[in-house]
Amino acid sequence: MKAEIIAIGNELVIGDTQDTNSAYLSSQLIELGIEVNSIKIIPDEINVIVEAINSSYIKSDIILITGGLGPTEDDLTRYAVAKALKEEQYISPILRETITQYFKTRNIEMPESNLSQSMIIPSAEIIPNEVGTAPGWWIERDKKILITMPGVPSELYEMWGNCIREKLQLKNNDLNIVIRTIKTFGRSESSIAEEIFDLFGSQNPSLGIYVKPDGVHLRIMGKDKSEAKAINLVKNFEEQIVSVLKPDIWGFDDDTLEQKLCDWMKHYGLKLSIMESCTGGLLSDTITSIEGSSKYFKGGVVSYSTESKILLGANSDVINEYGVISPQVAQEMSKAVRVFFDTDIGIGITGVLGEAPVDGNQPGVAYINISSSSHSRDWVMDFRRNRSIMKRRAVSSTIFQFLLFLNEYINDNKLDTK
Ligand code: AMP
Ligand code: MG
Repeated sequence: MKAEIIAIGNELVIGDTQDTNSAYLSSQLIELGIEVNSIKIIPDEINVIVEAINSSYIKSDIILITGGLGPTEDDLTRYAVAKALKEEQYISPILRETITQYFKTRNIEMPESNLSQSMIIPSAEIIPNEVGTAPGWWIERDKKILITMPGVPSELYEMWGNCIREKLQLKNNDLNIVIRTIKTFGRSESSIAEEIFDLFGSQNPSLGIYVKPDGVHLRIMGKDKSEAKAINLVKNFEEQIVSVLKPDIWGFDDDTLEQKLCDWMKHYGLKLSIMESCTGGLLSDTITSIEGSSKYFKGGVVSYSTESKILLGANSDVINEYGVISPQVAQEMSKAVRVFFDTDIGIGITGVLGEAPVDGNQPGVAYINISSSSHSRDWVMDFRRNRSIMKRRAVSSTIFQFLLFLNEYINDNKLDTK
C-alpha cells in the first residue's frame, strides 16, 4: 500500500514551525510496511488543500492529513475534505456532546467557534481525541483511506497510538517488515558506502545510509509475507555488513552511546568524573540524561577559563609550556578531575570552537584525554562546523572513544561484573 502525507499550515510553509508530524508519521508508516510516496506541506488555503487531496487521491491508497482541525477561521481541513469528496458537512450530535463535556469538566465556557469541531461528513468515522477538542476523521471510500488528524503533535501522537496505527495495521496485514539499524562512528559516509557498495541498490532487503550526530547509521529493511523470511533477508545483509565494519560498529537499533556507557560503568562498578572546557557541560548533560547515571558519575566541572583549570588541579607549568589547548593539558585535566573526585576514570576536554584560531589551533580542534591510574587514551577531534554541531560531535566522539577505552581497561584489568 502507498501513502501520502499532507501537512497543512501557513506556519509550516513559511518555516516558522517545523513539520515534525510528517517525519513521525512517515517513520511509523514504514514500520507498518506502508510506503510513503510523498509529503506535501501546504498553506491554509482552501483551493490548495482541495487540489492536494484530489491529486493524492489518484496516486495513493492512503492519505494522511495533519493540521487545520482547530476551531478558527483558518482551520479549513474539514471543509476542504468535504469539498474534495463532494459531501455535505453536518453537526454530529455525539461530537457536539463530547466537545461540550470537554469544556464543562474543565469549568470553562465553550467558545461558539468550537462547535465547528463537531462537524462531520457521511463517509467519515470519528477518531476520538482524548487530549484535545479536535476529533479526527477516518474515511474509507473508493478503495481509499483518508485520515485527518490534528496538527498539535501531542494530540496526533495520542490519536495515532490509540487508534490509527492499529486500524492501518489491520488493513495492511499481508506484509511483514523487519528493520535493523547498525550504528557506526568515526568513518565517513562515503568510505563506508564504498566498502559495502555491492549491497546498495538492492530492492529487498533495501539498505539506507544516514549521517547522524552519533555517527553513520545503516538501515536494512526487509519485507515478506512470511516474518521468518523477512528476518532472514535482513540477517543476511547484517552479517555481511558486520563482517566488514565490525571495528567501527558501536550499537544497533535504539542503542545510544550514553546508554551503553551507563550500562558498562554500572556493570563493572566503575566511577567517572569529567573536566570539560569547550563542550561547556554538554558531555555531563548528555551522560546525566540517562536514568541511573548517579550510580557511576561523581561529578563534572566546566573549567572554561585557564584559572579554573588550575584551581581544580591542572598543573600551571604544563599549561604555560604547551598552551591551554593541547593534548598535555587534556591529560592534566582528566588526571586532576579524577584525583579531585576520587574516581576510577577521568575525562579532560580542551579545544577551540569559536571563529578564530587560538594559539595556532584551528576552530573545531579539541584534545580529549581519558585516563585511569593504569591507562590513558588521547585523541584529537578536528571537525569544523557550526558551534553546536561541533559540541555535539565532540561529545559523541568522546563517548565512542570511552567505550573503546573501557574495553581495553576491562580486559587488561580482568574485571568481573560487580
Ligand atoms: P492546527 O491543527 O493546524 O490548528 O495546528 C495546531 C498547532 O500544531 C500549530 O500551531 C502548530 O504549532 C502545530 N502543528 C501544526 N502542524 C504541525 C506539523 N505538521 N508538525 C508539527 N507541529 C505542527
Ligand atoms: Mg493550523
